[in-house]
Amino acid sequence: KIHNELQEVKGNIRTFCRIRPASSKESCLSVDEDAGKVMLPYNGVDNDFRFDRCFGQTRTQLDIFEEVKDFVQSALDGYNVSLLAYGQTGAGKTFTMLGGREEEAMGIIPRSINQILETVAEMKDNGWEYELAASFLEIYNETIRDLLCDAKTPAAPAPSFFFCCCCCWTPPPPVLLLSFSSCFSFICYSSSVVQGTDMNERSSRSHTVFQLRINAKHEQRGQTLRGSLHLVDLAGSERLAKSNATGDRLKETQSINKSLSALGDVMSAIAKKQAHVPYSRNSKLTFLLQPCLSGDGKALVILAASPVESSAHETLCSLRFGNLIA
Ligand code: ADP
Ligand code: MG
Repeated sequence: KIHNELQEVKGNIRTFCRIRPASSKESCLSVDEDAGKVMLPYNGVDNDFRFDRCFGQTRTQLDIFEEVKDFVQSALDGYNVSLLAYGQTGAGKTFTMLGGREEEAMGIIPRSINQILETVAEMKDNGWEYELAASFLEIYNETIRDLLCDAKTPAAPAPSFFFCCCCCWTPPPPVLLLSFSSCFSFICYSSSVVQGTDMNERSSRSHTVFQLRINAKHEQRGQTLRGSLHLVDLAGSERLAKSNATGDRLKETQSINKSLSALGDVMSAIAKKQAHVPYSRNSKLTFLLQPCLSGDGKALVILAASPVESSAHETLCSLRFGNLIA
């Protein structure tokens, strides 16, 4: 493998936890970063959780990226890699994955694209040629929508910076990445399709997946590599009971619960090294992520957690989900 030797990880799934800053001093949990431990007392019971890494409230976007960049980089080495943000609405998933437009506020998606494009340029000197194709998908009520293709509508930024080629994947057609700035503005646009109208409505009820397929070849050595990177901003994990949902909302919530529990089932089967992994053919999400969740695929879940007292129960549920797959 060309870039880095990743240390062996159990079951190829790693779990990180990031606590978002609270506006006041109140915090229902405490973090021991060195021990990778989060403590959340609830109803008089102490609950301790251990993860591969824990990031307290003061951790920056750069701090997080420093810990995930080797993982992201391994997609260039021919691995199928996925990184998922899990947590209730408002816990910081989108901030972690996408972040803000200011450089220091940028999240994992733009930083990853930047790093990958830089590495690809460097590797050219060593005789490696890369072909990168990106798509940005939304899974909503078990239906996959291609946000990049939607960006071809008149409201979208001028499409001159990207090139859609419909020959290699069906569906959706990929976009060949030309530059960081083009890709980033594209993603910001695509996200605004989801976030724009009623941010904590649609975006909390759908999964968004930034998908990068990577083909590399070294002509002289006759070597080829195929990898992929999936960066996933999952739908809000808040429970059915709390949302008082009926009608369409109920359908949405059930569909989210179904896909998140299918994901949890697959990941916990892998973590426990069970012989049977229940890749659900009924779940678009686990179907899409299957290459990252089987063979030598790699997955990293970042649990986004809010320290706010009133969110303690939801936070506890998220940490338990993390425990299940750790
Ligand atoms: P989610 O996507 O999980 O619903 P968001 O990422 O939208 O949550 O976060 C909710 C709000 O909190 C947003 O206004 C976001 O900018 C802010 N926020 C989340 N995490 C952080 C952080 N680590 N630092 C600063 N602001 C944050
Ligand atoms: Mg969000």
